[in-house]
Amino acid sequence: MALSGLEIYKLLPKTNCKDCGFPTCLAFAMQLAAKKASLDKCPHVSAEAKQALEGASQPPIKLVTVGTGDGKLQIGNETVMFRHEETFHHPAGVGFLIEDSLDDAALKKKLDKINKLQFERVGQRIGANVVAIKSASGDAAKFSQVVKSVCGSTKLNIVLVAEDPKVLAAGVEASKDRRPLLHGANKANVDEMVKVAKGAGLPLVAVASGLEEIAELTQKIKAAGVEEIVIDTGPKDLTAKVNDLTYARRMALRKTFRPLGYPAIAFTTSSEPADEIAEAASFISKYAGIVIMKNCEPEEVLPILATRQDLYNDPQKPVQVEPKVYDIGNVTKESPLIVTTNFSITYYTVAGEVEASKVPTRIMACDAEGMSVLTAWAAEKFTPETITRMLGTVNADSLVSHHTIVIPGYVAVMSGKLEEGSGWKIQVGPREASGLPNYLKNFKV
Ligand code: SF4
Repeated sequence: MALSGLEIYKLLPKTNCKDCGFPTCLAFAMQLAAKKASLDKCPHVSAEAKQALEGASQPPIKLVTVGTGDGKLQIGNETVMFRHEETFHHPAGVGFLIEDSLDDAALKKKLDKINKLQFERVGQRIGANVVAIKSASGDAAKFSQVVKSVCGSTKLNIVLVAEDPKVLAAGVEASKDRRPLLHGANKANVDEMVKVAKGAGLPLVAVASGLEEIAELTQKIKAAGVEEIVIDTGPKDLTAKVNDLTYARRMALRKTFRPLGYPAIAFTTSSEPADEIAEAASFISKYAGIVIMKNCEPEEVLPILATRQDLYNDPQKPVQVEPKVYDIGNVTKESPLIVTTNFSITYYTVAGEVEASKVPTRIMACDAEGMSVLTAWAAEKFTPETITRMLGTVNADSLVSHHTIVIPGYVAVMSGKLEEGSGWKIQVGPREASGLPNYLKNFKV
């Protein structure tokens, strides 16, 4: 864990000489704790204190980079067990397993499907970002050929999976400009695997079934000069795997236990769609940095990507849409004008139901600081006054001739005050967005 300002202060010389540019050692310590100053500004710090402070300033979970360019995947560097404590920083990679035993046609078909796994959800693009290529054949030439073929067909980040260092080295040679993650080093092959990873400057997965063995392996790998390590406790039932992932995270964050201070990769074990979704969603929630799935059907992948999107947004900053009027369909001045808040999930739920109704409609998304309807109403961010102000801002008079707005059923209580304050006629819509299609089809002013 990061040291507090006072803990850092105890390690400084406490002479208040000002050579660091700060008036006191305590002021400098506070700036160090806030990561607004660097330790080298104090020329008088002792070697022991320097070692302790530098060690404490390392992130508890190592940042590991897979891939290159804009689409590269960065995992690790997380600082909290629970999202609400701060935020989760580096979204997990979601990818799919491809074995080198596939024939050309099957390989092409699977890659085409994987490349299409990009979606738009609540106004954001979400998609798969990893392909794991496994040597099932054990043949270096075959592995190399499939790795080349995959690299030529997708821009997604690559994980190379092989137990034989020679086979893995062939895969590295075929993908060296893609910065793949190498899977993996175990007790038997660690020395050879380290040579492959170190020679190419690539991150390496430490593989063992128990966390104690993993800790031994990571120390060995690090001592041999590979800094970027990912951990994998292998295939297990869901409970055991989540236990491993949670325990490793806890040891890294709560005990600053460096040998387990690395992001984890987890492979699903079930091929049955519902079970695999449960596995993958659990791994993402509890704390895998990369999840590799077997199936790549869109209906199976979208819930996993949505889980990742929801977990890795900042709980302090709700996802919002721009507060304005959105036209759905070929609207006219007779079209309904419905009012909601600018919380993305609320807006897109409403917009989806309006689209489904096929009734051209205007949606006025009011600035409610990204809160949903009831939350914003309770927090006084979605009030008769804010709606009245918004009607003026968007010049609603020029948009519809019927001078009527539809408010969500949940805030029916504000209709009298809103009508009086705005001078607009108020209709109370359904409580749930799912009621909108029927409501809009029967809309009358
Ligand atoms: S240079 Fe070092 S000893 Fe001097 S005030 Fe700054 S922290 Fe204290």
